Amino acid sequence: MRIILVAGARPNFVKLSPLYYALKSRGIGPVVIHTGQHYDYELSQAFFEDFNLPEPDHYFGVGSDTNLRQISKIIAKAEDVLRALNPDVVVVFGDVNSTLALAVASKHLHLKLAHVEAGLRSRDWSMPEEINRITTDALSDLLFSPSYDATENLLAEGKPPESIFTVGNIMIDSLMRVRPRAESLRYWENLGLRERGYILATLHRPVNVDDPERLGRILKVLDRINERYPVVLPMHPRTRKNVERWNLRTSVRVIKPLRYTHFLSLMLGSGLVITDSGGVQEETSFLGIPCITLRPNTERPITLELGTNVLLKEPEGLPELVEERFGRITETSIPLWDGRTAERIARILLNP
Ligand code: UDP
Repeated sequence: MRIILVAGARPNFVKLSPLYYALKSRGIGPVVIHTGQHYDYELSQAFFEDFNLPEPDHYFGVGSDTNLRQISKIIAKAEDVLRALNPDVVVVFGDVNSTLALAVASKHLHLKLAHVEAGLRSRDWSMPEEINRITTDALSDLLFSPSYDATENLLAEGKPPESIFTVGNIMIDSLMRVRPRAESLRYWENLGLRERGYILATLHRPVNVDDPERLGRILKVLDRINERYPVVLPMHPRTRKNVERWNLRTSVRVIKPLRYTHFLSLMLGSGLVITDSGGVQEETSFLGIPCITLRPNTERPITLELGTNVLLKEPEGLPELVEERFGRITETSIPLWDGRTAERIARILLNP
């Protein structure tokens, strides 16, 4: 059986790795396509090293561009490779441009398509990710949902129940696998930080970083918080480009984006996380670490229901929320977020 796994951006690698190994352990050597949507060492190669993944079988090298140009370049490259390989199933992950591009290409070639992380909805059409998710789900034959709320969304949209499989969150498989290494690493010590004494922040959503006025306001508020709790910000290349272009300044500890093990270690030792990342909302919820999400909405409502995550539209509200939530670590449990999601998916893929 020939199975293609598609990745292109940082969160994809975290989701692909467990399924790669689950298939391998069942005697299937999946073919890995890397579109090159993310190409910086820290956002791409470092993840292959961390998860001990072999070089991708096909690398498209598409690089940065506008969303639409990037999507069309990936589709064009995918056509040749998919025609040549004629796989039994193409598996796409998450909600990035590579996900949508391979979904469109696969269906046009009448190939079977599976979507891991199906059913998430922010109901915010201004987000490119929402367009990517909804379209990919519309095209998919197999919908692997991470949680029951996502399954409800798919059913409400009229997807055939027999195409939906509530399998849990595959990112948690990676987290559980790497956790012992990340725990013993105590990466915060390399930065001179005290365990549970600092804030970890990530920012990369266009709504926060593509407008100089808003990005400037966010950094100013983080500077204020940094006077009381040290803030460490592994800065995404998109954010860094804009900070440099607009000559913005900050007093927080800016570092390069971290490889997964190092980032997880910093998350484990933090007292609170400020983010606009989808995956980080989930990871903090699984770990019971308080998280403030700088966005007006989330496609991951389960993180809000648990109380680990809270949404905040305007950055000016941050200091008060930080004061209220810092260090409030809780015990959480989410159905099917148990480290066995990839096993479930592999079983379904191999016994259709
Ligand atoms: N992550 C990482 N290093 C970093 C920042 C994030 O390894 O410096 C991981 C994080 O733990 C999660 C994934 O990258 O597993 C999330 O990716 P990102 O925030 O880029 O994408 P999103 O989840 O928002 O789509």
